[in-house]
Amino acid sequence: MKRYAVFGNPIEHSLSPNIHAQFAEQMGIDISYEKILAPIDEFATTADAFINQGGSGFNITVPFKLDAFKFANQHTAYAKTAGAVNTVKINGSDILGENTDGVGLVRDLTQNLNVDLTNKTILILGAGGATRGVLLPLLEHNPKRLMIANRTTSKAVQLCKDFSKYGNTCGFGLEKVKDAPVDIIINATSASLNNQMPDIANGCANDAICYDLMYGKQSPFMDWAKANSASAISDGLGMLVEQAGASFELWTGKKPNTQAVLQTLRLA
Ligand code: NDP
Repeated sequence: MKRYAVFGNPIEHSLSPNIHAQFAEQMGIDISYEKILAPIDEFATTADAFINQGGSGFNITVPFKLDAFKFANQHTAYAKTAGAVNTVKINGSDILGENTDGVGLVRDLTQNLNVDLTNKTILILGAGGATRGVLLPLLEHNPKRLMIANRTTSKAVQLCKDFSKYGNTCGFGLEKVKDAPVDIIINATSASLNNQMPDIANGCANDAICYDLMYGKQSPFMDWAKANSASAISDGLGMLVEQAGASFELWTGKKPNTQAVLQTLRLA
């Protein structure tokens, strides 16, 4: 039986074992998938021990995605542009680092929520690790313009510079968000985790599709979107399931039915 895991700190809350168990059942394959709490300064030793015990691959969540990037000895294009790894596949001495977060977001938007990204104006709030991970997969869908607004302006400007070769990007401070509609707003800040809403002009939400990367509860961003006449509102649970689906496919070569799993989580 192949052995997989997710490493994080904290890790108790993780839904990944449940999601991967459902994928494996769908496909009729026997895998084990466990949660592993890695001590903050000991990601590499914990991951080495898992590999030495026969582990075939693992996911990585907060705060180890940069450590996982350093740990891998090969990287996919998405991992390289993100500078972070959320999925590792072991093949002998090859440690392949992949980042499926962006593909997860794009699949949730385009396949589960039927959102067409092409030629759309997209506003991303936040310029942290999650934003870096989703930019290339979003830009591959040729939006008309992808704006990055961040509390610390310099980080948004830097991301814009790093990704301008992939599409039409611009970066600025949250206070520069215009009071005028855009097509899609993605909240990739961690403000929701602290029950806060980034301070931006309300008018951008009018008739926009508003997506919060956070999941698990109604966020202030989702309340704000509703109060300001968004056309559709979603949390990031679908992104979580879709990034897991992409990891599962990398490991097993089999594409699971992610929508069925998402439905079971929504009903739980
Ligand atoms: P980081 O810590 O790397 O970045 C946090 C970002 O949020 C920074 O841009 C920071 O701005 C901004 N921010 C924090 N608090 C506020 C605030 N009160 N107002 C405005 N901006 C704020 O976090 P990540 O990028 O790793 O994660 C972001 C979110 O994405 C989290 O909620 C995480 O749970 C979620 N996520 C969801 C996934 C899913 O599968 N659904 C996958 C990955 C992430 P500044 O630069 O000024 O500090």
